Amino acid sequence: MQLSNAEASPHGCLLKLKSRRSIKTRLSLLKLVELGAIIRINMYQGSCLCGKVQYKLLSEPQRVSSCHCTMCQKQHGAAFATYGNLPKADLVYVDGADLLASYNSSAKIERKFCKACGSSLEWCGSVEYPDWTSITLSTLDTPFNPETITQIFTETKACWLETNYQPADPY
Ligand SMILES: [Zn+2]
Ligand SMILES: [Zn+2]
Repeated sequence: MQLSNAEASPHGCLLKLKSRRSIKTRLSLLKLVELGAIIRINMYQGSCLCGKVQYKLLSEPQRVSSCHCTMCQKQHGAAFATYGNLPKADLVYVDGADLLASYNSSAKIERKFCKACGSSLEWCGSVEYPDWTSITLSTLDTPFNPETITQIFTETKACWLETNYQPADPY
């Protein structure tokens, strides 16, 4: 009886320690998950040129592509436009949503921009992906470096895009 008590005691002690440690571990894991969620929520922030439109992304942009179509060239006044996709619900305008204007470049496609400064912010309305939107990557203020960028509509790539770049003259 005594022996079994002696055996039970350290074992119980160990169990206690073990369970104490696992509660602690569980607590810190919860804290980490919570912290991760907070960091993730605030991970991606963006804005337009004048700064009046501010947004945040609740998830990482996916399937990033650079579009060389003539409509993107005209709208952006640039050789191409780079977009990342995310669920519509994950794009939250935190300021200046009233300044958003949109242009339908085709029946369903909406190109949203800041009417104060003209920054292009969003491309949406795809029939195939109605719950998704595309954010213009260049308006992100948080660094985001996607693993790959798909080049699309390269058949209308600007003819000057591959021109040899010269370093600028020193001032
Ligand atoms: Zn603006
Ligand atoms: Zn395009």
